[in-house]
Amino acid sequence: MNLKRGISCGISEMLSRISLSANFRTGFRVLLYHSVGTRTDLKTSGVYYVTPDLFQRHMSILKELKGISVVGFEEGNGYGDTLEVAVTFDDGFKDNLSEAVPILTELEIPFTVFVSRKHIKYDASEYLNEAELKELAAWPGATIGAHGANHLPLAPLDQSEIWHEVHDSKNYLEDLLGKPVLTMSYPFGSLNHVVRDVVEKAGYLRAACRHWGINDAYNDRLLLYRTPIHAEDTERIFIQKLKGFWDWHGRFQRDQKIYE
Ligand SMILES: [Zn+2]
Repeated sequence: MNLKRGISCGISEMLSRISLSANFRTGFRVLLYHSVGTRTDLKTSGVYYVTPDLFQRHMSILKELKGISVVGFEEGNGYGDTLEVAVTFDDGFKDNLSEAVPILTELEIPFTVFVSRKHIKYDASEYLNEAELKELAAWPGATIGAHGANHLPLAPLDQSEIWHEVHDSKNYLEDLLGKPVLTMSYPFGSLNHVVRDVVEKAGYLRAACRHWGINDAYNDRLLLYRTPIHAEDTERIFIQKLKGFWDWHGRFQRDQKIYE
C-alpha cells in the first residue's frame, strides 16, 4: 500500500469509528469500476481494476446488507428511505463481459458500461470489440452509455470539439446497438460548465463524473457523483465507501468548484 492510500485508509477508518450511525444514509450512490481482472499492477493501476473474486464479494454485499436497493444508473433518484446503489464501469474492458457479467447476472444486479468509440473500434486487445459490445448489451440488466468518441479529456476542448466528442459517440453507439444511448461518463472526469451544457444539448439525460460523493434528489443529473472502487477495497473498506466515509476526498478534487 502506498503512502497516499495509507493516509486515505487511516482517515476514513477514523471517520467510521467516530460515526454514531450504524445505518446507511439515504441517497443515490454510483460505484465506479474499470477492469475486473485484466489489469493487475497495483502500483500503477490500483484504481483501475479489482479481481473477479473481490468484485464477487462486493456485489454479494450489495445484495445482502439491509438498507440498500440496487438500481440502474438511469433509474436512481435519491428519494426514498434506502440507499440506492448503481454499478458502473468505465472504458469497456473485455473482462466486463467475461468476468463481471456472469456475477452480475447471477445476482440480478443491473449495470452500465460506458465505452468510447476509439476503444471499441480500434483497440480490441484490451477492450470489447463491436461484436462483444453487442453481446454485452443484450444481457438482462445491461445498459451501454457513451464515454466520448476518442476518450479525450473534454474540458480543454473548444465547443465544437466537445460537440464532436459527445454527439458522435452517441450516434455511433445508437447505430451499432439499435437503441437510444441516453447516458455518458466524462473521460478522465474532465468537465466544466461548457462541457456539461453541450452534453445536455446532445440529448443525454444523465452523466457520471469522477467526483467523489453521494447524490440526492436535487443533484444535477448531468453532474452525478460517483464512488471509485480500488483493487485494495476489502469488504470493510467497501462498506465504509457505501456509508460515505470516503466522500471527503471530493473536497480535495481540483474540480470541486463546479459542484458548488
Ligand atoms: Zn475512461
